[in-house]
Amino acid sequence: ASWIEEFVRSVESGRSPVVASGRHAERFGGQLVLVTGAGSGIGRATALAFAEAGARVVAVDRNAEAAARTAESSRLAGAPEAWAETVDVSDEQAMEKFAERVTTEYGVVDVLVNNAGIGLSGSFFDTTPENWKKVLDVNLWGVIHGCRLFGRRMAERGQGGHIVNVASAAAYQPSRALPAYSTSKAAVLMLSECLRAELAGRGIGVTAVCPGFVNTAITSTAHFAGVDADEEKRLQQRAARLYGLRNYPPEKVAAAIVRAVVRNDAVVPVTPEARGARWLSRFAPGV
Ligand code: NAD
Repeated sequence: ASWIEEFVRSVESGRSPVVASGRHAERFGGQLVLVTGAGSGIGRATALAFAEAGARVVAVDRNAEAAARTAESSRLAGAPEAWAETVDVSDEQAMEKFAERVTTEYGVVDVLVNNAGIGLSGSFFDTTPENWKKVLDVNLWGVIHGCRLFGRRMAERGQGGHIVNVASAAAYQPSRALPAYSTSKAAVLMLSECLRAELAGRGIGVTAVCPGFVNTAITSTAHFAGVDADEEKRLQQRAARLYGLRNYPPEKVAAAIVRAVVRNDAVVPVTPEARGARWLSRFAPGV
């Protein structure tokens, strides 16, 4: 579809979500799109991109104020309806209640974007069991809960749908600095491929999106738990050496996510270093 390339360019330019152009308002018209971690960064940009395409948006974050801001911006961006919801995606019971309530109040989710995630750096032996658990609880279990709870409802409804899981280039790029994070993302990548195979016969697509280094809060010092400032600086410098630390905006990832849904892509590397990673050929031949 040619509209999606034009749409991608307009979202990537970063201006489109601020004021609704109205030009693509019908593309996702009537569809319910739920984005986790929508309060900031990639999740926020993704919510706004779907809003621009006319979707009804559920902006989910554990930070209530941030979710509310995204819902408000989504309405400005063109969503006919947008709601802010607060839940911790790693909390199984809270997620079960949440999924039930969302379905009752807003309907069955058509597009689920499991994006909420936390960064955690530190060498393998410096990562405490507590920190391993913390990162796996959010980055892996959060995705599992989302897929189980919303994916099952999609499948039962029988009218298709799409699930996007935000993994990372770290999923296929071994790192001494981010063992827990990379492990969580590798698991999300494989989970996505297994679920894609399982749901293919039901018209439900599953995509793993793998960004490299993107300019968001997660890549700033504050969000890297478990390392001191010096080590953080060292990691940033190492990343800069490896990747050239481009100023890669979250809007570009958001655009790639919308396009992946439209095209039903399986694995999508985003950012130049992710696209260039030699590991990728194993996972996504032909990309
Ligand atoms: P971010 O910190 O800007 O946004 C993450 C959002 O998720 C925040 O609003 C936070 O409050 C929310 N969140 C965190 N834990 C949560 C929980 N348990 N329940 C609900 N909400 C929660 O970071 P971002 O860069 O936009 O990250 C989004 C996703 O993209 C993450 O999964 C991250 O791992 C992935 N990613 C980011 C990069 C990058 O370079 N920024 C690269 C690859 C992948």
